[in-house]
Amino acid sequence: MPNAKYEIPMPPNEPVKNYLPGSPERASLKAKLEEMQGKQIEIPLIIGGEETKTGKIAKCVLPHDHKTVIATYHQAGEKEVNMAIQAALAARTAWAALDWEERLSIFMKAAALLSGPWRDTLNAATMLGQSKNVFQAEIDAAAELTDFFRFNAYYAMQLFEQQPPHSPMDVRNKMEYRALEGFIFAVSPFNFTSIAGNLPTAPAMVGNVVLSKPASSAVYSAYHIMQILKEAGVPPGVINFVPGPGGAVGRPAMTSPYLAGIHFTGSTSVFQDMWKTVGTNIANYKSYPRIVGETGGKDFIFAHKSADIEELGVAIIRGAFEYQGQKCSAASRSYIPKSLWADLKDYMVKELKTVKMGDPRDFSNFMNAVIDKGAFTTITGYIDYAKKSSDAEIVSGGNYDDSKGYFIEPTIVRAKNPHFKTMEEEIFGPVMTIYVYDDDKYEETLHLCDETSPYALTGAVFAHDRYAVATANRILINASGNFYINDKPTGAVVGQQPFGGARASGTNDKAGSFLNMVRWMSPRSTKENLVPPKNYRYPFMQEK
Ligand code: NAD
Repeated sequence: MPNAKYEIPMPPNEPVKNYLPGSPERASLKAKLEEMQGKQIEIPLIIGGEETKTGKIAKCVLPHDHKTVIATYHQAGEKEVNMAIQAALAARTAWAALDWEERLSIFMKAAALLSGPWRDTLNAATMLGQSKNVFQAEIDAAAELTDFFRFNAYYAMQLFEQQPPHSPMDVRNKMEYRALEGFIFAVSPFNFTSIAGNLPTAPAMVGNVVLSKPASSAVYSAYHIMQILKEAGVPPGVINFVPGPGGAVGRPAMTSPYLAGIHFTGSTSVFQDMWKTVGTNIANYKSYPRIVGETGGKDFIFAHKSADIEELGVAIIRGAFEYQGQKCSAASRSYIPKSLWADLKDYMVKELKTVKMGDPRDFSNFMNAVIDKGAFTTITGYIDYAKKSSDAEIVSGGNYDDSKGYFIEPTIVRAKNPHFKTMEEEIFGPVMTIYVYDDDKYEETLHLCDETSPYALTGAVFAHDRYAVATANRILINASGNFYINDKPTGAVVGQQPFGGARASGTNDKAGSFLNMVRWMSPRSTKENLVPPKNYRYPFMQEK
């Protein structure tokens, strides 16, 4: 079969299941939830394919029922990070040299496993460990991660096929898309299981070896991703699993001379510290580390007076409160024209009274718990600040209770001052702050929106007047990396709306797109001279 060529077709997005009452997927997921919650597991490190135990134990608890422990896990320290670096480097030569068809086949298999037999497990792990309702788990753990595997494989193949032209007759040219020389440090946040899967696998697909550090509050689902990757055939040492405290794992990884790249998603301050560490150590590395980071946001919904009240109200409720506002893309500030405010307020207050909050195993709950005690304290601190301030009023919600789980009501704050603290800072919880502006100050307020926060991740404009849409489009050109027209600013789909922001929100390398895959390659271009010259003299040197 000398001419056989492996092709990865442009994949469709993974269909999202509905989990309607009486559906087979609902029954099977409920059974999996019972099974997983009923047993406590012990999670080891995975280094060079071997399970490693350190005895430094931490717990995975249910955020909505924090006395229930679903797992204990071993934490890595400097010794284990160094072991993982050695294991990664030992695996590198064979992995980088493996034909890309073989490598990508492994991740196509991971997609098939996740779409099929592992779907319930990863959804249930995400619902239990990160307190997501079934829909939020399905769009994240099942659909988005499957999409990351399939689309990244497709984009990688497309890049490998990009080849330079040849000179007629005498020169043959070639581009080899080599892996980076060293290891990639993949550091993921708690809020998306798909990100914990994407950060290590995107670089691995194009031949890199990886140390994967999940967030401490999402070790449970991240460990199950490692099991899927093992079953799919990722060889030992290619992706090493090193959960543990950020600094204890981060310091030895980022000061290693073999650090070739950082693939990070998380908060802006952690990313800036990582960049500083790389800067301080820049002379010690074998190569310049690639730094890719998607970080915080202060995402906006901006309404024009021509907006529809219900469309706007639904976007605010879903955009700000789904997954308890713990999406980097979650709407957390809104600009509403005076003429719409009274009706919009009535609509939202009425609708929010119907929102149910509780355990994700009760499928009627729209909201669940925030991730942990630290998040609960930070978010409620902002709510208390707004309660006490004369510059703000609580329009809806404002109560909280952590006696069983970390529950915070969906809260709407109205700020009189457009620079009020909760209009500017990332809260990462179910708190929406609204600034009401004079209808005739549309353009002026768009500039205010653009200049208010250091972030530029997502944003939305609501208007039926097309001139108003065009004006917002122009003035807000740099205010977000993902921009929505008459839609909530959350829920980007891999392959359709490549995701990432600029300014303090990240390097905007667009996860799940060819732009991200390019960052993990170091091309070698080769020229072969088919007819090498045999005389150093050029024609212009002739005397006549
Ligand atoms: P975080 O910054 O607290 O933690 C992220 C990861 O960094 C964790 O694994 C943590 O253990 C690790 N870490 C912390 N200190 C470290 C250090 N010194 N060295 C190495 N690693 C270290 O973020 P989080 O609370 O898990 O997630 C929420 C944040 O993530 C929010 O700011 C949110 O906006 C952001 N986020 C952004 C995107 C995006 O695409 N822009 C997506 C999801 C989340």
